[in-house]
Amino acid sequence: MRNVLIIGSGCAGNTAAIYTARANLKPLVVSGKEAGGQLSLTTLVENFPGFPVGINGPDLVNNMREQAQNFGAEYVHGDVVDTDLSQRPFRISIDGEWVETRTLIIASGASARWLGLQSEYDLIGHGVSSCATCDGFFYRGKKVMVMGGGDSAMEEANFLTRFADEVTIVHRRDVFRASKIMLERARANPKIVFLTNTVAEDVLDVEKGHVTGVKLRNVKTGETWVRAVDGYFVAIGHVPNTKPFAGQIELDADGYIVGKGGARTSVEGVFHAGDVEDRTYRQAITAAGAGCKAAIEVERYLESEGH
Ligand code: NAP
Repeated sequence: MRNVLIIGSGCAGNTAAIYTARANLKPLVVSGKEAGGQLSLTTLVENFPGFPVGINGPDLVNNMREQAQNFGAEYVHGDVVDTDLSQRPFRISIDGEWVETRTLIIASGASARWLGLQSEYDLIGHGVSSCATCDGFFYRGKKVMVMGGGDSAMEEANFLTRFADEVTIVHRRDVFRASKIMLERARANPKIVFLTNTVAEDVLDVEKGHVTGVKLRNVKTGETWVRAVDGYFVAIGHVPNTKPFAGQIELDADGYIVGKGGARTSVEGVFHAGDVEDRTYRQAITAAGAGCKAAIEVERYLESEGH
């Protein structure tokens, strides 16, 4: 029987682990197939306070994990495939093996949607990004491309014009899902170019190890061509990792956890931390803060029950 089980080993999960371990609660952290979360998919992180010259994303998240382990947090690698939150203790199935816990922190994050091209995957962190706030700064005076036709794509494209000389929005249709105001703002921005009815076929150049351009195809005419860019941002949405909790805790229409104040969820004793509930900020530092909040709530909750 565990005092606290933490699902997720990104910034939120690791911070919750540091705090609960220091409170002597001996947390068990389940680190799934995207171990380390979004930070493990990026390179230099320059906006996490405390690192004046920046730190590599994977290093930052590994340091957090090591810090938690130094205080006695235990990590197990595996996927949460099922849960029973209908009664206490909660039961969590990690690859088919059931573990019991008094409290649960869900910090399973939201995964960025990618187009799914092999070259896109190969160049993540080397010109391919899913976060303009994180990586826009590296494109001062350069040309970048943003994939998508929703609000995220418009927002990221507008943000990127602070740095880049030219931002090309590539959308697969000619009708936009983005709200009128966001679309109009992007259209009015002289640095933004729109390519509609267009899809990406390949991100170049895997051999060179960084982005040099994108092979595009017009879906109406079939024409293909290469557009030279230095950065390729994907903004086609995120998917919260909440499948094992569906039907057990309250989720919104898109699958994000519905927060009930502080770090609480609709089930007493189950807390949330990070992008699995936060669709607005999605930053390493806000996720870390959320992990801290969840840990403090777990401590108080267990204390109130006499553990
Ligand atoms: P979204 O609204 O679902 O839009 C996703 C976009 O990506 C769509 O244009 C979609 O094309 C495209 N797309 C999806 N899969 C694709 C694929 N495989 N290949 C090419 N294109 C693909 O997602 P979002 O923009 O991330 O927004 C999510 C939610 O957050 C929305 O409710 C949005 O309003 C909100 N949001 C608000 C703000 C703001 O107000 N400041 C900022 C960001 C997000 P189709 O249109 O063809 O399906």
